[in-house]
Amino acid sequence: RAKEQGGNRYEVADPVADARAITRHGLTNQLPSALEHDEFFIEYQPLVGLDDGTVHGAEALVRWCHPTHGILGPDQFIPLAESTGHIVGLGRWVLERAARQAYVWQTEHLGSGPPPRVNVNLSPIQLQHPELVHEVARVLEDTGLSPASLCLEVTESALIGADEDTLKPLRQIADLGVSIALDDFGTGYSNLSSLRWLPVSVLKLDRSFTHGMRGHAADPVDLKIVGGIVSLAHALGLTVTVEGVETRTQADHLRALGCDTGQGWYYARPGPPDRLHTLRLADAG
Ligand code: C2E
Ligand code: MG
Ligand code: MG
Ligand code: MG
Repeated sequence: RAKEQGGNRYEVADPVADARAITRHGLTNQLPSALEHDEFFIEYQPLVGLDDGTVHGAEALVRWCHPTHGILGPDQFIPLAESTGHIVGLGRWVLERAARQAYVWQTEHLGSGPPPRVNVNLSPIQLQHPELVHEVARVLEDTGLSPASLCLEVTESALIGADEDTLKPLRQIADLGVSIALDDFGTGYSNLSSLRWLPVSVLKLDRSFTHGMRGHAADPVDLKIVGGIVSLAHALGLTVTVEGVETRTQADHLRALGCDTGQGWYYARPGPPDRLHTLRLADAG
């Protein structure tokens, strides 16, 4: 179409694309100082037991409070941080902060159940970093958090076709007693039999699976697929968490299908760390 309108059409700049490129460029340059200036913060989203509604822990989700752009979500800066390597420093900061927070929750923990755990997302770039295992061990030591209270989330797509070199650090982390979750499971076309040998103990079913369960007339195929995945996961000794639980109906279906924990707006949006404490007390009461 541009061709029909004349060749020089190609030379006209696209102002929107330009602005986007400038923003990207600007944000990328600002990443290192943002960490120094303490512009990142973490919101925590509860992981809730589907059977009794108790809070088992929370996932740490990073945000950037940018001085001029306002609050930016991870999708707006994590890819930039990954392409420039800044994710290593940022990821280390998130891990340390979240572990310290989980330790605080545990000291405040009044309920009778197990102490609340924290889930931290790991970028594939961090997986390739030679210091990762050492850093995880150091954070546990520095914060005093028990390894059983930490879960690291790695996306399914990061592990597709992973060789032993990629899996080795994950195995070493699992050997420390930290659990590994396969995040966004079901979106990456991984071989189900890979679950046999990946060092993971938690499956996080992607929210695309829960989409068809929002209404009372749930998609019967979705129900069968999720039921099948849950049976397989449990047979292999894995725990199943489901993302994107937005309605009570979804929670009911997922409970009936035997899923273990749920995470989503139905229970709580991501929020400040002290809110987890409140939810927990509310549940206990
Ligand atoms: P994720 O790990 O799959 O996290 C779940 C995302 O789903 C979060 O988006 C969360 O806010 C959103 N969510 C939660 N409940 C619901 C719901 O009921 N409905 C819907 N539609 N969405 C829900 P968020 O916070 O924007 O994070 C996006 C992604 O950014 C995360 O996906 C994760 O892959 C990445 N991310 C976040 N924090 C970090 C981090 O510290 N390091 C790294 N490497 N990645 C991170
Ligand atoms: Mg995650
Ligand atoms: Mg996820
Ligand atoms: Mg997801």
